[in-house]
Amino acid sequence: MKMGLCSFCLKSGILCQKCLAKLKSGEVTETDLRVARLLMSLEEKFPSLQNVYFHKTIDADRTLAIVVGPGDVPRLLGYGGKIVRTLSEETGKNIRILENGVDDRKFLEDLFAPLSIMTINTIWLPDGTTETRVILRKRHGPRSSFDVKSLKEIASRVRNITLRVEYAD
Ligand SMILES: [Zn+2]
Repeated sequence: MKMGLCSFCLKSGILCQKCLAKLKSGEVTETDLRVARLLMSLEEKFPSLQNVYFHKTIDADRTLAIVVGPGDVPRLLGYGGKIVRTLSEETGKNIRILENGVDDRKFLEDLFAPLSIMTINTIWLPDGTTETRVILRKRHGPRSSFDVKSLKEIASRVRNITLRVEYAD
């Protein structure tokens, strides 16, 4: 796994001046550090993690989003979901894996997976701002691990978009 901190610092848990400065400035958060170290500790068991670029985490209530490099999402979702399950157990949160540098549609698909998106459109409000309306295909059965409020917060913090979520009949 690669990220903005030295791998030596990440492994040892003792940060050099440069890494410490990133933590102090908020460029890297305590949660980022914790999740990055967790991912690093899983590399031996799940070797695909070695090639993952870790950008950051977004901690939104019961949901924790992890933003990784382009093409890295399958590397974390593989192994029958074991990596995500481990992360969820260790952090006590629902985990979303998002990809850096993708378009809005791909971002939203990852955010709402495994639900499928029927329509995405932009709504112009009278004050000149916009909302992005996402219509999801209704899925029967429990939706317990799905916290729309957290997902809206993540969309706002990662992409600066205001979401309106609806379900198709
Ligand atoms: Zn360092």
